[in-house]
Amino acid sequence: MPTNSAYQVCINPTCRKTFDVQEVHSGCPACGNLLDVAYDWNKLPVPKSLRDFEARWSTQQNPLDYSGVWRFRDLLRFASDDQIVTIGEGQTQLRPSNSVAKYVGVNDGNLLLQYEGLNPSGSFKDNGMTAASTHARMVGAKMTACASTGNTSASLAIYGGATGLFDVAVFVGSGKIAFGKLSQALDYGAATLQIQGDFDDALKQVRDVCAREKIYLCNSVNPFRLEGQKSIMYRVLEGLNWEAPDWIVVPGGNLGNSSAFGKAFAEMKELGLIKRVPRLAVINAAGANTLHQLFNQQSVRWNDGHTDDAKIDTFFAEMDRDNRRASTLATAIEINRPVNLKKCLRALAVCDGVVREVSDDDILDAKAKVGAGGFGCEPASAASVAGAKLLREQGIIAPSERVVCILTGHQLKDPNATVGYHSSRPGEIDEKLKSAGITEVKFPNRPIQVANDLEKILSVLRDLG
Ligand SMILES: *Cc1c(COP(=O)(O)O)cnc(C)c1O
Ligand SMILES: [Zn+2]
Repeated sequence: MPTNSAYQVCINPTCRKTFDVQEVHSGCPACGNLLDVAYDWNKLPVPKSLRDFEARWSTQQNPLDYSGVWRFRDLLRFASDDQIVTIGEGQTQLRPSNSVAKYVGVNDGNLLLQYEGLNPSGSFKDNGMTAASTHARMVGAKMTACASTGNTSASLAIYGGATGLFDVAVFVGSGKIAFGKLSQALDYGAATLQIQGDFDDALKQVRDVCAREKIYLCNSVNPFRLEGQKSIMYRVLEGLNWEAPDWIVVPGGNLGNSSAFGKAFAEMKELGLIKRVPRLAVINAAGANTLHQLFNQQSVRWNDGHTDDAKIDTFFAEMDRDNRRASTLATAIEINRPVNLKKCLRALAVCDGVVREVSDDDILDAKAKVGAGGFGCEPASAASVAGAKLLREQGIIAPSERVVCILTGHQLKDPNATVGYHSSRPGEIDEKLKSAGITEVKFPNRPIQVANDLEKILSVLRDLG
């Protein structure tokens, strides 16, 4: 049975306690650290080459082969086929964009966008939620829950609504959730609790609730969710004819994605499926830059699992003492207490990674460039492009290197940010953006006011031409 060859294991090297795959934990019961899903690869039919997965392109009438997550199920074999919950997630694309390449400063053909906004709920979160929902079904859960800045709740809600397997409760902060995301949770029928507080507060509440009641927690502390998110990297390799790029650039919020990417590469290397691991760049928004501060200013490293916990604890204690709250227009990464911090440090060690922070001004300009190139995304996603540009300017990324930026969420998630940006002009910023701290917009595409009159309309169009 496949499930015997998968288990859960504590990431702390001085603990390494293991747990059955049927157990439900949001952290190690012995030491409180995060858990991994691990595999006894010797007992599993692992493909000899990544190319072997191509056979599944021709059997797409099987929902498991259609799914962009589960067609790679041999690399996340914690469930048997009949337990898998899928709604056709992961039909996403890796596309080159030369206009974005030019903006970032790399050669034509070297900038690729992994467009995860094409998932059923419009963000990469579906890659993880299909896996978490599968585990929830394995353990007989009746209700699933999460805290969210918006996309996690939209994703969990769609899995509840589309499968009818679970009731769903989502906890959102009362502040800045983008309307597209809130509307999804409501429309998919999730019980939507608006907690008076921010994301970090909502997460603490939902963790306590799930510890008290038999409710299944689907935040990224859930190690099964991250197994699904590994598939984003499998699809990037698939899009590059199974060759690793030089760089993967991803926005960092709760750091689940970056953690999953590092695990995917470590496993593929161990299994001899890839020769070279790409470098990883994790990009924080300047208003939510915990990883940047710990990694670059305090030099906190994975260190084979012996992280400097005293330094980390002091950092968070000072954050609480000064009541420092995350604040960025990139609401999906407006998180000051990233739960997957240690796993992300591990990923940075595996992938010789770097961390940067970018301003909201730079994020929105990068977003406009992504949109003009035909691949709309939400603000948080554009942090990847702004980060790649910064790393290019700093000479860390070379023009000849191949760079993949992960576009984590769809443009229509947050139309207010987009319309606000394009309605601004240099020196005259949209009121909402201004109060959120935006000082400059470089590429607005303003709507043109024109009278309801054919001649005047024609004269406007002629002036454009
Ligand atoms: C969740 C989310 C992120 C942050 O990902 P983490 O795994 O939490 O670091 C970034 N962008 C979008 C659009 C998201 O929904
Ligand atoms: Zn432990």
